[in-house]
Amino acid sequence: MDVHPVVVVGLGAMGSAACASLAARGAPVIGLDRFSPPHDMGSTHGGSRVIRRAYFEHPDYVPLLRRAFRGWNELESRTGLACFHRVGVLLIGGAESDVLRGSRQSADRYDIPVRHLDPDALAVAFPQFSLPETMYGLLEPGAGFLVPENGVQGHLEIARRYGADLRYGTRVLGLEADDQGGVVRIENGEIRAARIVVTVGAWVDHLLPSLRSRVEFAPQLKHIVWFLPRDVAACSAGRMPAWVMDDGGACGDGLYYGVPAWPGQIGPAGVKVGFHGPGAPVDPDNGDRGPDAAVVTRFERDVHGFLPDVLDGPSAAATCLYTMSPDRHFVIDRLPGSSAVVFAAGFSGHGYKFAPVVGELLADLALQGHSNIEAGFLSLDRFSAGTGSAV
Ligand SMILES: Cc1cc2nc3c(=O)[nH]c(=O)nc-3n(C[C@H](O)[C@H](O)[C@H](O)COP(=O)(O)OP(=O)(O)OC[C@H]3O[C@@H](n4cnc5c(N)ncnc54)[C@H](O)[C@@H]3O)c2cc1C
Repeated sequence: MDVHPVVVVGLGAMGSAACASLAARGAPVIGLDRFSPPHDMGSTHGGSRVIRRAYFEHPDYVPLLRRAFRGWNELESRTGLACFHRVGVLLIGGAESDVLRGSRQSADRYDIPVRHLDPDALAVAFPQFSLPETMYGLLEPGAGFLVPENGVQGHLEIARRYGADLRYGTRVLGLEADDQGGVVRIENGEIRAARIVVTVGAWVDHLLPSLRSRVEFAPQLKHIVWFLPRDVAACSAGRMPAWVMDDGGACGDGLYYGVPAWPGQIGPAGVKVGFHGPGAPVDPDNGDRGPDAAVVTRFERDVHGFLPDVLDGPSAAATCLYTMSPDRHFVIDRLPGSSAVVFAAGFSGHGYKFAPVVGELLADLALQGHSNIEAGFLSLDRFSAGTGSAV
């Protein structure tokens, strides 16, 4: 049986970028996906994803973000697809907000242009928000939002241009691999590969069960809700940036975030709002994935609290999957015991913006066994063997 140099399993955000990077370097790649990407069955749909560099989650992500920003620019110029809308990102929070504090630290350390807004300046600059007088703002004008469907399509288009063999509707049933190579089992046969890249999002536990002894990934169901603008100008790109609201827990243990209405919007029209916080556990293959009316009602109550006059009621709702890692940081590494397999998982609701650099990193690991991209903080080493907890 032929041995293929590289097989990529899962062609969503990360797998499509890995295929593009591998194929552009001349590696013969087969890419497999059980659906037909871009699709709305995983984690990469809904028309928009916030992208910013003043990263409150950890400053170590900033060098990766710099590279990712270059990657998005390149993807746009190579495909002509509008992937990145530079409408700015506004972070809102109180004096004690970890979101503002962490973002300021990253901005200072890496010299990222941001504008600090005291409560008065915030009220003047963004009058569509109704906020307590204790809220501050941090505006990153060079940030904005990405269009995930265009990103996946663009990366797959690049991969195809360089000769990648992309097979949709092909579900991988299992993998066997050691350090030399492996076998990918599909419904009507198997494919032998020297290197296997696994980027299956919320299905990672299904395909790499051996990882469970090191780290448990938890898929969660997340809601997104669209509101039609009552004041169109106040809710549109230009006057409204993408935003993240740290209300200090007033609306629960998480952050509401939103993306303005924009011309050529993909999916439902209007301002899109999500909640970045704990979600209901879900098995991606079973159970009801439809939006829950009670959650939509909560969004309506909370969002009208801080955007009271400019939005009508919810006009559409959908769900999407987060794959949480125990510490909410990504896990990108080789599979213990079978280094022919590299994987990227646990993007914990903030990974999309990194797709181009994750693609490069996976291509490095698959082709060279190591990478010069500084992403050691995302390796499996931080979880001790047998406990699944961060060390
Ligand atoms: C509501 C929501 C809001 C978000 N907001 C942001 C944001 O603002 N900014 C940000 O940066 N990130 C955000 N994220 C996170 C980001 O979208 C995800 O981290 C990212 O899209 C995950 O990509 P992935 O490649 O891991 O998974 P996916 O894109 O889901 O790809 C996995 C692929 O694997 C395929 N697959 C699975 N099993 C198999 C199999 N057995 N055989 C073959 N194929 C298989 C699936 O069909 C799928 O195409 C958000 C996520 C959600 C859900």
